Amino acid sequence: MFNKILIANRGEIACRVAATARRMAIKTVAVYSEADASARHVSLCDEAVPIGASAPKDSYLRWERIIEAAKATGAQAIHPGYGFLSENDEFAQACADAGLVFIGPPPSAIRAMGLKAESKQLMGKAGVPLVPGYHGADQDPALLQREADAIGYPVLIKASAGGGGKGMRVVDKAKAFAAALASCQREASSSFGIDAVLIEKYVQRPRHIEIQVFGDTQGNYVYLFERDCSVQRRHQKVLEEAPAPGMTPGMRQQMGEAAVAAARAVNYVGAGTVEFIVEQKPDGSMTFFFMEMNTRLQVEHPVTEAITGLDLVEWQLRVASGEPLPLRQEDLRIHGHAIEARICAENPDNNFLPATGTLHVYDLPAYVSFERGNRGGADTLVRVDSGVREGDVISPFYDPMVAKLIVHGDTREQALARMDEALSQTHIVGLNTNVQFLRYVVGTASFAQANLDTGLIPREEARLFKQEKVGLPLAAAAAIARTLVEEKALEVDAANGAWIDPWARRDGWRAHGLATRRFEFEFHGEAVTAMLTRLHDGALQLQVGSAAGPLTFVPVADGIGVDFAGQRQTVKVWLNQAVAHVFCALGATQIVVIDALAHASVGQADAGRLTAPMPGKVVSFAVKPGDKISKGQALAVMEAMKMEHTIAAPADGTVEELLYAPGDQVTEGAELLRIKA
Ligand code: ADP
Ligand code: ADP
Ligand code: MG
Repeated sequence: MFNKILIANRGEIACRVAATARRMAIKTVAVYSEADASARHVSLCDEAVPIGASAPKDSYLRWERIIEAAKATGAQAIHPGYGFLSENDEFAQACADAGLVFIGPPPSAIRAMGLKAESKQLMGKAGVPLVPGYHGADQDPALLQREADAIGYPVLIKASAGGGGKGMRVVDKAKAFAAALASCQREASSSFGIDAVLIEKYVQRPRHIEIQVFGDTQGNYVYLFERDCSVQRRHQKVLEEAPAPGMTPGMRQQMGEAAVAAARAVNYVGAGTVEFIVEQKPDGSMTFFFMEMNTRLQVEHPVTEAITGLDLVEWQLRVASGEPLPLRQEDLRIHGHAIEARICAENPDNNFLPATGTLHVYDLPAYVSFERGNRGGADTLVRVDSGVREGDVISPFYDPMVAKLIVHGDTREQALARMDEALSQTHIVGLNTNVQFLRYVVGTASFAQANLDTGLIPREEARLFKQEKVGLPLAAAAAIARTLVEEKALEVDAANGAWIDPWARRDGWRAHGLATRRFEFEFHGEAVTAMLTRLHDGALQLQVGSAAGPLTFVPVADGIGVDFAGQRQTVKVWLNQAVAHVFCALGATQIVVIDALAHASVGQADAGRLTAPMPGKVVSFAVKPGDKISKGQALAVMEAMKMEHTIAAPADGTVEELLYAPGDQVTEGAELLRIKA
């Protein structure tokens, strides 16, 4: 076994690899960019080496520097994590050339699986079922059109070099093919440097089911069962679970054996995932087709760890150091059910626009963290794999995924309930995240009943976006309760234990012996006034919006117990600048607390200016000067945090001027174009 490894990655995967290495008494070397100088992964490793500026191309993708760092620190092997260099065959080769072990498959296997079209040809020969389609080298548009016509619409055009859900176009009819092909090729060459495409039948309401495989250097292979990753947005995974609901032992074995055949065909070594697209027939039967092989550990590997009780990174390290696979196929068992949710810094209500900022509050559920030596498995109820800590900054340079919650239960129902609870206990303040969105997804009938397919999110749209579960009365009551609790604490403190009635000091007025205090809020853009009255007996009466009635609250261990207008909830409230972030079992919401003295206007859109919501690259403009535009219309596309985002018009108007050109790098808040009302 190795004494020391270098982790050529960042974020949660780097932290997670460091945890296993520590448990195995292997020393770790972190590498880090400027933006990550004080990142969590750096603090978890024994040594750390700076490798350059913040942009990935200047640090995490600079493999000469990474190899130098490994040699300088005496590391024997490099774990690439996922993303970055993990599927780069040249890097794997360079490691070998430098006398370092690349913890992953041989370069030849990465290469063979690197291009979707070539790998499909290879898989076809190995007898692995393929989606009907064209995977040839001839890219003549007329030929591609004939192939698409022969497959029958709808078809999917895929960039052969694509990944991360990018470079795909669904085409419904022959007439639309040529334009879709051209646009797919454009995206493919700009994103992946290769414009070759393949065409396949577009499977309707498919499921994404993948098989975890493992091989060793002695030619042994096993499959560690399946993961269902059908819940996707933009062809990217949102929730993953294992085992796949509805999977029969027979189909599991067939898929497992097909995946092992795929791995064997390329002399695979280490952890890999064979992804299948599964067609669901009206009679409930399922047919699976090979989609691609990811030649690395996958983001969703913890659900497999949870149901098998194994540590896949430990397996990777053992196999890479030349040991045989720790278990044989017949030794492997599935225990219970596991679900993973990817927590991303993004705004689901704004087309999943990535968010950047400081994690002022980062309060995760009571959990057994992987770092504390828990290896997953049936005894772990909630596992958190996180790349960040409270106070950390989410920068625009990297992936928006900041953490993963993984829950385990004896049954899917139990796992589902635990996931809902874990998400309700995940309180993040400082930037937008998808935590509430994930809760809504978990709560849909489709997900609860395991009615899974890749169209789940669009199908459940009405229940997933722009939701308000807490509501104004409770939100206002919570914010008021927090203020009063805080004031009381302050007063007691200031007066050395002697209680001064804060009521008297504030802008309350007294009439007929009653004191009424006024609170101003903004809730979903609407100004709201709340009136709080203290009755003779000291009881509080609150009136806000159309709700009125007694308000009681009591500080409890993990928040404030609030009772108002028929709702009784334990709330946690954090004030971040003027915004009160309210969390309770029902969900989370935000209410702006307007300080009567400050007259601050919060959330006012700057009319006439359209600014970049985050730092990134301008991909294209959909309008030109002089164009009349209407509210909500797509104006420009930006790329940041590995995704493309459409910037929409905030109001009707006319485009006056474009201030950048496609390809330009812009900072957050940069004015992109000028609009005349
Ligand atoms: P997967 O099926 O594993 O999501 P993708 O092809 O979508 O595979 O891409 C690889 C994954 O690696 C993405 O989910 C991306 O978000 C993730 N990723 C890349 N780099 C990092 C990183 N440093 N930290 C966390 N996640 C990362
Ligand atoms: P990537 O490299 O971007 O992960 P994949 O080939 O794995 O690309 O496909 C990503 C997703 O696109 C799948 O999980 C699935 O949702 C969808 N998809 C891929 N191929 C098909 C197909 N033939 N029919 C329908 N959906 C597909
Ligand atoms: Mg894929």
